[in-house]
Amino acid sequence: MKKKLVIAIDGYSSCGKSTFARAIAKELNYIFIDSGAMYRTVTLYCMRMGFVKEGSIDRNGIIRELNNINIEFVYNPDIAEYETFLNSENVEKEIRGIAVSSNVSSISQIHEVRSRMVELQRQIGVFKGIVMDGRDIGTVVFPDADLKIFMTASIEIRAKRRYDEMKSKGIKADLDEVRKNIVARDITDENRDISPLRRADDAIILDNSRMSVEEQMIWVHEIIENKINGR
Ligand code: C5P
Repeated sequence: MKKKLVIAIDGYSSCGKSTFARAIAKELNYIFIDSGAMYRTVTLYCMRMGFVKEGSIDRNGIIRELNNINIEFVYNPDIAEYETFLNSENVEKEIRGIAVSSNVSSISQIHEVRSRMVELQRQIGVFKGIVMDGRDIGTVVFPDADLKIFMTASIEIRAKRRYDEMKSKGIKADLDEVRKNIVARDITDENRDISPLRRADDAIILDNSRMSVEEQMIWVHEIIENKINGR
C-alpha cells in the first residue's frame, strides 16, 4: 500500500491555499481541511452571541461557549465540494463575508480558541492522508508533517483573487476593502503571541503570484511522489 502523507499548507491570507490544498487532496484522494473555516465559524458564533462588539471582545463569554460550537464539513454533491456547518446550519457563505473576515484575526488570537481548534485538527489528522491549510499547521498542529509548503503572492493579486471568490459566491465585496482586510489580517496573524504566522524551517516556499492552479499542481507533483516513495 502507498504511504499516506500529512501535508501542511500555510501562508498569507488569500494566496489560494485552500484551492491548492483542495486540488492536492482531490488528486491523492485525501481528506482536505480548511482550518481557516474553523476559526471563521467560531467567529460567526461569537458575533451572533454578541461577544464581539465594536472592537471589544468578551473573552470569558467565548471561552465559556467553546464546547457548544460544533463544526462539521459536509459534502455537497451539487457543487462537488465540502461546506462548513455550525451546529448543523450551513454557514459556508456567511463565514466568507467581510463582517467575519474583519473579526476573525482577533478571535483567533485567543489561546483557548486555538487550543480547542488544534485539538480538533489533530483528531482529524490521526487518519493520515490529509491536506490541511492555515497559518500554524506546519509549525504547531503537525510539526512532523511529511510535507510543508509555505505560500505567498503579491498583495494586489491576493486581493483580486479573494474579491473574485466572494463575487462568485454571491457575497457583497469591494476590492479596496478586501485588500485592506487582507493586509490587516496578515499583520495581526504575524504578530500575535500564540502560534503566529511564520514559515516552518523545513517548509518549501511557493510564490504563486504568476502561477495557475494547474502549474502549481505540476510543481508539486514530483515533490509529492518523492515523499510517497520515501526519497
Ligand atoms: O484561511 P483564512 O483566510 O480563511 O483564515 C481566516 C483567519 O483565521 C486568518 O486570518 C487567521 O486569523 C485565522 N487562522 C489561524 N490559524 C489557522 C487558520 C486560520 O489563526 N490555522
